[in-house]
Amino acid sequence: MNNKKIAVYPGSFDPITLGHVDIIQRVARLYDQLIVLVAESSTKTSLMTVSERMDLIRQSFLGENNIHVDFHMGGLTVDYARKAGASVIVRGLRAVVDFEYELSMANINKTLAPEIETVLVFASPEYYFVSSRAVKELVRNGGDAARFVPAHVIKPLVDKFRST
Ligand code: ADP
Repeated sequence: MNNKKIAVYPGSFDPITLGHVDIIQRVARLYDQLIVLVAESSTKTSLMTVSERMDLIRQSFLGENNIHVDFHMGGLTVDYARKAGASVIVRGLRAVVDFEYELSMANINKTLAPEIETVLVFASPEYYFVSSRAVKELVRNGGDAARFVPAHVIKPLVDKFRST
């Protein structure tokens, strides 16, 4: 039997921000393995391809051996978690507006897979207002996102808006 404690952190990561990086680093300390799962959102159109998003996440955690990156095209996160042998789904909480949605998702997931726990982690105060969406708006309008995303994310992000 595999006793490794594995957690899955699903999201769009379009692109990864310092808020995500903070959650990932804090949570990775608590588990043997953390899988950052890039999922296509049914409600959002994405700017970056899944493989671009995965590359930018990987580059953020070079040398951190218990952080893995994977993708999931459709399907339930709990099904992915079961297949991966994960017992925890991690989500980050920012403003109060995140709460209702996360509560509802956690309850649905609990009904579907009682053996999997949702763990909610509060955003650190400095990243409380950072979202991928706000970063995209900023860069689209010519702003500098250096304080909100890892350094290697800036160029690919700026290039996206040049090419669109
Ligand atoms: P989704 O596309 O599912 O809304 P994202 O890809 O933006 O989510 O983010 C994945 C997870 O990370 C979500 O749980 C979201 O609440 C959380 N998150 C996003 N930005 C931050 C941040 N600045 N600090 C903490 N958690 C965050």
